[in-house]
Amino acid sequence: ATPMAIVVGTGIGAERGILIRDAETIELVGKLQVAILDKTGTLTQGNPTVTDFAIAPGGTLNDREALRLVGGLERQSEHPLAAAIVAYVTDWGIASAELPAVAEFEAVPGCGVKGNVAGVPARAGTRAWLEADGIDTSELSDRANAWEARAQTVVWLAIGDRAAGIVALADVLKPEARAAVRVLQLLGLEVMVLTGDNERVAEAIAREAGIWRFAAGVRPDRKAEEVKALQQEGKRVAMVGDGINDAPALAQANVGIAIGTGTDVAIAAGNITLMSGNLHDIAIAIQLGRATMRNVR
Ligand code: ADP
Ligand code: MG
Repeated sequence: ATPMAIVVGTGIGAERGILIRDAETIELVGKLQVAILDKTGTLTQGNPTVTDFAIAPGGTLNDREALRLVGGLERQSEHPLAAAIVAYVTDWGIASAELPAVAEFEAVPGCGVKGNVAGVPARAGTRAWLEADGIDTSELSDRANAWEARAQTVVWLAIGDRAAGIVALADVLKPEARAAVRVLQLLGLEVMVLTGDNERVAEAIAREAGIWRFAAGVRPDRKAEEVKALQQEGKRVAMVGDGINDAPALAQANVGIAIGTGTDVAIAAGNITLMSGNLHDIAIAIQLGRATMRNVR
């Protein structure tokens, strides 16, 4: 039979919108040593908006043409960055009927989107993805670096083998992020950030949240590997995430904590759901676990 303390502990959590799946979870959650936080939608609000846009000097496209192209590519994507870019293109007065058709569209997880526009290959995505295919990014590099140092995500547009433009997107930290991280640290946990975004952006966001350790440029299919690596160091690890991409890492973690405002896939993969998505609830769950287990013994 389940000890009374666990029934009570689980009930107290549920009242606060902290849904703890089973007795084993409430026992484990108090013993965690590392909390890995996904960046987008977990540490940040997950509503990116476009803040800047620039085209390559001497390129063949003007602003409007470049935006039409990036809009055509992104309207086919379900990524949160894509929705923000399409909204920006619309705000520019470009109607969806003006967006070019994209043939052979493909979304590459952790990289971006690509396809052929009027027979020419085009793509929108990370700088690393462009560079991996030999596209020179030096012309826009200083600009992009400056944006990234301000924690903005930069999406690169390429036409053929030329970098044609860059779009900067800002996604602000949740208001409680910094305080919630501090409380976790005071409870003795090591906190780290995990993101598919690049090093510069990861570092800027982590620093803003008061976190020193981060793993950047982690492809969606590699997030679970990051969790496993820490477990192999003997650590008991919580993964906190909201996205479809986070599901394998949530399942791999000793305790997977899903943000209730995120995707159903993440919620299904987690052991705990934080209904409100408030990051303070991570520390509350840990303290609830510790208090509960003291009453069991
Ligand atoms: P995160 O871990 O921050 O949620 P993802 O793994 O989903 O990020 O994506 C990693 C990076 O890949 C993004 O920061 C972005 O630069 C790029 N990317 C992914 N999808 C798209 C897209 N549809 N358009 C442009 N860039 C994209
Ligand atoms: Mg996310």
